[in-house]
Amino acid sequence: MTAHTGSSGQGEGDRLGLLEVAWQRRDVAPAEAAQAARAALKSPEAARAGVILAYLDWRAGRYGRSAGRLVRALTALDRTDAPPDIWLGRTLNTLANLRSLLNQPGEAAALFGRQLQLARDLNSTELEAIGLHDLGVAQFRVGDLTRAETHLRRALPLLERLPDPVGVAIARLNLGVLALRAGEPQAATEHFRQALEVQDAPDTALLRLPWLESRLRRSLLEAAEATGNAGLIAEQEAALWRLAATPAHLESGHLEIALDIALALGCRAGPQATLEQVRPVLDLARRLGQEEHAGLALAHERLSEACAALGDHAGALDHLRAALALERGAHAAEREQQYRALEVLHQTRILGDIAEQEKQKNSRLLSDLRDLQTLNEHMRRLSLTDGLTGLYNRYHLFLEGERLSATAAAPLAVAIIDIDHFKGINDRHGHLPGDEMLRTLARLIRDFAQPGDLAARYGGEEFVLLRPGVTAPAFAASLQHLRRTVAEFGWEKVAPGLAVTVSIGVADACGPHFEAGLGAADQCLYRVKNEGRNAVRYCHSPDCTPG
Ligand code: GH3
Ligand code: MG
Ligand code: MG
Repeated sequence: MTAHTGSSGQGEGDRLGLLEVAWQRRDVAPAEAAQAARAALKSPEAARAGVILAYLDWRAGRYGRSAGRLVRALTALDRTDAPPDIWLGRTLNTLANLRSLLNQPGEAAALFGRQLQLARDLNSTELEAIGLHDLGVAQFRVGDLTRAETHLRRALPLLERLPDPVGVAIARLNLGVLALRAGEPQAATEHFRQALEVQDAPDTALLRLPWLESRLRRSLLEAAEATGNAGLIAEQEAALWRLAATPAHLESGHLEIALDIALALGCRAGPQATLEQVRPVLDLARRLGQEEHAGLALAHERLSEACAALGDHAGALDHLRAALALERGAHAAEREQQYRALEVLHQTRILGDIAEQEKQKNSRLLSDLRDLQTLNEHMRRLSLTDGLTGLYNRYHLFLEGERLSATAAAPLAVAIIDIDHFKGINDRHGHLPGDEMLRTLARLIRDFAQPGDLAARYGGEEFVLLRPGVTAPAFAASLQHLRRTVAEFGWEKVAPGLAVTVSIGVADACGPHFEAGLGAADQCLYRVKNEGRNAVRYCHSPDCTPG
């Protein structure tokens, strides 16, 4: 294994060897890897051990802790007098992924650039493969599908050569998801199948990862639905049922797998099945002390819909409230992560400067860096906008909404616009016309908006329009015009026989808590839905004094 120059005394090389094994097995046996790393925390290899723990923290969603560890590792590993070290590359890679997840694309781009340079200096296939792969994922995250595909495809043969079967399966999963997004379910099916074959190969049986298998099966199910391949649908459903019935997966803390599977199976089989599949996951979350997990918001939303479909309106309202509370919690956590990441940020700026100097070194790197710069600009713009409709995204809505409701002396009205029976429309006309509908509705909303309004995509088929300077009743009256425009629009152009209506809930958002106004508008929308849809209604926001 790698000889560590400058180490002294018996056992140093051994320890480094153990850490190397822990790193290679970090996805397959995270608990063992963490144990090996913790054992080395007081040794001269503490920085390298810290990188493993930072990686594991990142994968487990503990971003603040991961960032702290990475900065400490960087301080130790990134010295000008030290020889280039693969562990520095691993640090840069983990930090880059963290940045990308935290919506800090510029920083991510600079770090990936440095990692790829180091890969070439060290002639390290591992660093180059994961660098290209993760760069592709970062580009995918901001909707740059072409570059994402290029980088994922360049990573694939390198991962095969290593060999890194888990990496290969993950790369194929990502290529498949990308193909699905590009409207090529056949190509997606091929990728998912090959990824499952990698998993099934006898010599990699030990590398089976339940979360990877459930993601692959779920994605393959989606592709099979898009191509209408009944045999493949049945096969994946059976496999998911098998996974769902494997208690080891569900009891050992794999909350996300359990949730994934329950949503995939329950939602396909109707409201009663949704209740039966998803409720036990909430019990599991309670047992594991993970009731606050942000992913559970989706579970509550689906349960709310299922309750409503079965006529249990009290249950539907309870789950809707629980979903809203979790989402609020997630946003608070997201903001906290942003703040914590700020302290790391100024350190990565320094790294950006170094990357700038090294740009001259080699022409292959130069072209990658140019890609990275484009990505950088692209990401900055896209981190505020929704990829499908071009409206502001939810993240920006909350930031701006909070600022407006806290500072505006004048009133601020908030409307939630939700397409009626969109699921049925999707089912009848297909997802691509569904997407086109969303883009068209976004355009109608943009045309309706006045200067000073803020229009955002709030969720799947839900939009939010904020208007400063008016109260909810006046805004609701004016929104009748938008409602009529939608109902009378020539939707035939999008799909033959298509007719679309929207329901709109309106409330005042009087500071300081923007979310309270949004919640009131949401509950108002719920009433419009119950009263028959295709209507506008305003409701009193409990936080606002009347008048
Ligand atoms: P309701 O009138 O009560 O609002 O019923 P609905 O069917 O509109 O509401 P529901 O929340 O049950 O379904 C929303 C659907 O929106 C489910 C999902 O398939 C679809 N959807 C969400 N995001 C997208 C997207 O980006 N593209 C497409 N085509 N469909 C989406
Ligand atoms: Mg909805
Ligand atoms: Mg709807």
